[in-house]
Amino acid sequence: MGKAIADHKLIADGDRIMVAMSGGKDSYAMMTLLADVQKRAPVDYELIAVHVDQVQPGYNGTPLVKWLDAFGVRYEIVKEDTYSIVVDKIAEGKTYCSLCSRLRRGILYTTAKRLGCNKVALGHHREDTVETLLLNLFFAGKLAAMPPKLESDEGGIEVIRPLIYCAEADLAAFAVEQGYPIMPCNLCGSQSQAQRKQMKALLETLELTHPHVKQNMLAALGNVNPTHLFDRTIGRLAPPPARLTVL
Ligand code: SF4
Repeated sequence: MGKAIADHKLIADGDRIMVAMSGGKDSYAMMTLLADVQKRAPVDYELIAVHVDQVQPGYNGTPLVKWLDAFGVRYEIVKEDTYSIVVDKIAEGKTYCSLCSRLRRGILYTTAKRLGCNKVALGHHREDTVETLLLNLFFAGKLAAMPPKLESDEGGIEVIRPLIYCAEADLAAFAVEQGYPIMPCNLCGSQSQAQRKQMKALLETLELTHPHVKQNMLAALGNVNPTHLFDRTIGRLAPPPARLTVL
């Protein structure tokens, strides 16, 4: 995580960082590691944990609240019923996750602004970004993944992903070691994210014979050669000005 922070200048002096806590293993690990680095960092920054209670049936946020109390970080639990919206808008049998996470992201940005945070830290790791790369490549016809740092559409707030270099298996092992009270993200009864699972399975299969595939994909995201691609909006292949367009 430290290397990702240094490589991409994710944290600066005076930052107030909202740490998005889903209650999953990655968000717990991110909180633990950011707080640990904070003690030794040459810069001063604040951390505020925020969890969104989306009012899913059967939700119980108590384990997370207890953990946050014991951990001793400032935190907020924001309660907003996105579950009803998702159930209302998404046809039965379709996956809720895309709309659900978009709504959650919106709530996080609004909360970050209210709390005066200039950054929102999300717990996406190496596998999340390389799976997203494959999803975009295979199903959306574009080359894009999850960046370590991105200015959000909600001006003034930067999204950072400090765990972007971390292998999911390492985070899982760390979570077991730390005994985090992990909360499931499937209370909504949404279907599984089939395509993402396919990408995960594909990568796992490839790694059986080529153990560095994921790491190489991660390296490729930082080693782009635009002249060997053909996006006409980049570099020397830029399209001619509009006035020369032949209709
Ligand atoms: S599994 Fe349920 S709670 Fe989690 S993102 Fe998908 S729809 Fe939302």
